Order: sequence, then C-alpha cells, then structure tokens
Amino acid sequence: MTFEDLKLLKNIQQALADEGYKNPTPIQEQAIPIILEGTDLVGCAQTGTGKTAAFAIPILNSLHHIVGSSKKVKHIRTLVVTPTRELALQIGESFETYGKYTNIRQLTIFGGVNQVPQTDQLRKGVDILIATPGRLLDLHKQGFINLDHLHTLVLDEADQMLDMGFINDVKKIIKLTPNNRQTLLFSATMPVAIRELADTFLNKPKYVSV
Ligand code: AMP
Repeated sequence: MTFEDLKLLKNIQQALADEGYKNPTPIQEQAIPIILEGTDLVGCAQTGTGKTAAFAIPILNSLHHIVGSSKKVKHIRTLVVTPTRELALQIGESFETYGKYTNIRQLTIFGGVNQVPQTDQLRKGVDILIATPGRLLDLHKQGFINLDHLHTLVLDEADQMLDMGFINDVKKIIKLTPNNRQTLLFSATMPVAIRELADTFLNKPKYVSV
C-alpha cells in the first residue's frame, strides 16, 4: 500500500513526500481509514511504529475541511493528551511537519515553564492542542481552554499515563469534552485499568494492534 491509496488531500501527501515517506507503516495502514471515517479507535502500538503519524495524518486531513480559510474563529477541535513534555514536543513537531501546507494552527503546552507564552497563543486561537495532563487542567481551571467544540480526543501512551499516576486527571479531562467526540486511545500495553477506561469512555471502538 502507498499513501496515495489512502486518498489523502494533496497538501498532506506533498508534506509526506517531502519527508520521504512512501508507504504507510502497519499501524498507519490500519488506523488511518478508521480515523478518517470518524470511528473510535484503540491502538495497541509502541513508540517507533509510526503511531504518531497514524493519528496526526487523518486528523489533519479531516480538520482541513473544517478549518479551510484561516480567517474563521478558531476553536480547539483536536486535543492530544500525552504523559511527558518530550512526547508532547515530538507530537507537536509531527503535526507541524505533516500540516505544513495547511492553515491549521497547533500549540503544545506542558508544565514546568512559564504559562504566559502558552496562554498568549491560546488567546489567539488554535485548532489542535497537544498537552500534558497537569498543565491542561490548570489552564482549563484558569479559563484559558474551552473544549466545547472538540471533535477528536487522543489519549496517547495511556499505559504510561496510568503508571505516572495521571489516570484521574485523564478521566477529568475526558469529562470536560463533548459526549459526541471521536476518541482515539493508544497504549503500548493493555492493563485492566486501560481496558476499563476504553470500555467506559469510547464508543464502539475498533481495535488495532501491531
Ligand atoms: P513514532 O512511532 O510515531 O514515534 O514514529 C517513529 C519514526 O518513524 C518517526 O521518526 C517518524 O518520522 C517515522 N515515520 C513515521 N511514519 C513513517 C512512514 N510511513 N515512513 C517512513 N518513516 C515514518
């Protein structure tokens, strides 16, 4: 299979070609069509399998239709929650790379740094927010983040968030989002607590494992 078979927008295909990507990895081949059709997904995949692009590419593709011209008012349409600053920055770079020929705006936020540059960007409006759980809840509590227009929630490295004690924060975050959202959960392992999270908060998910 090639990326052309996935019927992605030209401007996203071009960005992938610029990166030298020819063929989707197995997780991408399986997950991209499911995400494009709007279905919930549980993806069992480690880092290094191409799982970031597996969600970033279809999310950008779908958002492009909504965002269109950059002049419209921006709302957060996609939220990616991930356990660490390093992962958040990597995911942000992936969205930047694959979305470089779109008008989609994205922001990465995490704790341990001054919040002002982050809240300045939030005020201007972003389409995609990538965040670690603590800073996200903190800025939400302060009124800087509105998730009422969210389409897609990504829970990345869910087992690591569990191990780091973020599970209750993750549940709080899910409850701040609309019930009709699309939810994508990625985890390298599937401990009981993660299965339960998926059973409780995902809507008839499809399962993909690599
Ligand atoms: P990830 O598993 O998301 O951390 O991605 C692992 C690495 O694979 C990243 O450096 C990506 O840039 C790269 N990558 C992702 N998808 C592809 C692809 N389809 N072809 C070639 N490289 C890829």
